[in-house]
Amino acid sequence: VELSPEEEERRRQLLWSLMSSYLARDVSSIQKYVVNHLEYSLARTRHNFDRSGAYQATALSVRDRLIEAWNDTQQYFTEKDCRRVYYLSLEFLMGRYLDNALINLGLREQYKEALIELGFDLDEVESEEREPGLGNGGLGRLAACFLDSIATLNYPGWGYGIRYRYGMFEQRIKNGYQIELPDFWLTRGNPFEIERLDVSYPVYFGGSVSQYTDNQGRLRFKWNPAEVVLAVAFDSPIPGYDTYNCINLRLWDSKPAREFDLSSFNVGDYYKILEMRQTSETLSAVLYPNDSTEAGKELRLKQQYFFVSATLQDILRRFLKKDRPLTQLAEKVCVQLNDTHPTIGIVELMRLLLDENGLGWTEAWKTVKAVFSYTNHTVLPEALEKWPVPLMERLLPRHMQLIYEINFRHLQEYARLGNNDGHMLERVSIIEESFPKMVRMAQLAVVGSHTVNGVAEIHSQLVRTRLFPDFNRFEPKKFINVTNGVTPRRWILEANPALSAVFSRWTESDDWILDLNQIRQLEQYAENPDLQREFFEAKKENKRRLAEYIREKNGIHVDTNALFDIQVKRIHEYKRQLLNIIGVIARYNLIKSGRRDLVPRVFIFGGKAAAGYAQAKRIIRLINGVADVVNNDPDVGDLLKVVFLENYSVSLAELIIPASDISEHISTAGMEASGTSNMKFVMNGGLIIGTMDGANIEIRDEVCPDNIFIFGLLADEIDKARSELKYRGWSCSDQRFQNALAQIGRGMYCGPDTYQEIARALEPPNDYYLVSRDFASYMDAQDRVDAAYKDKRSWLAKCIVATSRMGKFSSDRSIHEYAERIWHIEPCAFTPSSITYKEP
Ligand code: PLP
Repeated sequence: VELSPEEEERRRQLLWSLMSSYLARDVSSIQKYVVNHLEYSLARTRHNFDRSGAYQATALSVRDRLIEAWNDTQQYFTEKDCRRVYYLSLEFLMGRYLDNALINLGLREQYKEALIELGFDLDEVESEEREPGLGNGGLGRLAACFLDSIATLNYPGWGYGIRYRYGMFEQRIKNGYQIELPDFWLTRGNPFEIERLDVSYPVYFGGSVSQYTDNQGRLRFKWNPAEVVLAVAFDSPIPGYDTYNCINLRLWDSKPAREFDLSSFNVGDYYKILEMRQTSETLSAVLYPNDSTEAGKELRLKQQYFFVSATLQDILRRFLKKDRPLTQLAEKVCVQLNDTHPTIGIVELMRLLLDENGLGWTEAWKTVKAVFSYTNHTVLPEALEKWPVPLMERLLPRHMQLIYEINFRHLQEYARLGNNDGHMLERVSIIEESFPKMVRMAQLAVVGSHTVNGVAEIHSQLVRTRLFPDFNRFEPKKFINVTNGVTPRRWILEANPALSAVFSRWTESDDWILDLNQIRQLEQYAENPDLQREFFEAKKENKRRLAEYIREKNGIHVDTNALFDIQVKRIHEYKRQLLNIIGVIARYNLIKSGRRDLVPRVFIFGGKAAAGYAQAKRIIRLINGVADVVNNDPDVGDLLKVVFLENYSVSLAELIIPASDISEHISTAGMEASGTSNMKFVMNGGLIIGTMDGANIEIRDEVCPDNIFIFGLLADEIDKARSELKYRGWSCSDQRFQNALAQIGRGMYCGPDTYQEIARALEPPNDYYLVSRDFASYMDAQDRVDAAYKDKRSWLAKCIVATSRMGKFSSDRSIHEYAERIWHIEPCAFTPSSITYKEP
């Protein structure tokens, strides 16, 4: 209806008065909201009120609050027209929502009390939540920590990704082997998402490209696609801690589009249509594992383009709500690429600007380069994404043309810059001249971005020197480092209430939750017996919780006085779970030889192997085989236990990490980009045994070399060691290693299907990950750990000092750095009093 300005104002006031004022925070109001949802949203009654219903109703009542804050925050961002960051990631490993939301909203105590009176324990209700496992590991979890910090620090930002219907598979262990089960996490719905049927975009594939001349006589290109899929938005509100701001994670779901159906109807191929519809729905169906077995899969490329195309259409629509030219886009919009997975976005934005909006090449390219920045996550050659040109030509013909043009101009520019040693242009080319030709996504990301960052000092250095030395020579300012961080809200406050209380007591405030540097105050009391006792008690409590879980799940009794030695992360040869388990075998042999003066230890492993990664699955089998032998050997008793916890996930990490005395981050130097669990373990009062790799190096700088157990070759010694192993007859003479290997080879821990390949991989010419080479140094470090643990007071002092010095590794610090150095965005905090539509 056409409204006069007065009528429009009356309408606003009416809407405002109809909307309930902000939801109340007292216990009885909360009870009312929960029970209302039980009755009206779930159609259940007081007579049919079980724990699952309690979870659903509680979650929906929290969602209402989040929506309120979300709407206000978004409206405020729009009004302020602030410059925003969009964080594009194919993975978001969020973990459970409910507990995190209650903590960030400051409502956990009220909800606890409200539910107790209704007959439910909040912890139990929270355990009903099915965790969305929409990520493989570190990269996806980083994205989740970053969203928490962006919201908490009031930065205007959104996350964009895919709403996979099947997340990371569920891992079961059967007879020592990993079994994968599909993870249909949506069985009981997801109360924390809002389906936005009003926000959807068509995404096209295939077809051909035609040329025409526009009315200014310029040559233009038109893509005539053959297939269309609809991207539908699902929003999850992400609340910040101790702020009203609530940002958005928008995940795209694929649905069949109507558009092309009509022509198929004319052809009369009704079943073909249904088939096509099914294919559209599978597009966002599953998350791909991060191993090379799935590399080059067509569906994966389609997923990448699907999510990036929908996202950029959404971003442009938002930008164009105000009447302004697209040449100003980079003033208001920046896009962070979380690894190369969303890199096709660079080309898609070019296409949208050139073909759909009529910009010329120069202004379009200038805009694109000013919008994008790229985070590199790996220097492992096998993990660098490449797509076959023929596949790209078939699926995205217009994009392939644009890539050729981008590459042509890029090579011309680099040729002009000179210093061509004959192969430089070949190295910096976006196209690899192989058969078939390949598109190198990392090169494309570097060319199309204004800034490229690595995720820890050593990694950023390797990005400059090993991965992109030519780019670095010509554009050194483009390459920077932003060391990863993790959110103290989820990883301390939520995961470790006992230690959180210690932090608050000894700093006499809760300020550390927003400024982790505050815990540095604990260092001065590192020797104080009261603090030591409290620290010890907190650790003990967390070990007790984990021991209980192990007893329940694995049927193994572990002594909480033993040293808990933990390695939980994806199973990968470069992370060297093999080094750890061979060390365990050596320790077992020592015990069998009669040594009783060792520190009792519980070795705890966890992590998933990609379903197609055979060697990683064998490592799991070996660990379980060793566990079987050791745990059932009466000679060993409580001196040594080995546990493999199945189905490692964020929720499980929250239980495991606070319980560690020592955690293992023992990758071959130069191969782990950063690691983030290393940070979490030390923040939670544990120490690290590790190599000079990833963020371990910076952790060592912060906590001092006395408070971390470092061993092994350095990154710049690796090439030489490999060639000694391969060509100069180096082999490991350590008897402990040879004995362990011989036992594996005799089938003492697992059958020939496993041990043959394990033993083969460790033989001198094959031992690419240098397990044999670092073994002796690793065992020395473990001896130092034993010796240090025997002196309880000095051990506790080490833990207190190390923990207190972890301020740097808060993701708040990382996000401030991104905001200042890459995104150039400012905080934009909404407080309810700044609502524009004042209550009449
Ligand atoms: N997987 C899960 C479920 C996690 O929670 C984490 C970190 O906490 C990781 C993987 C990353 O571990 P890392 O940094 O040891 O590779």
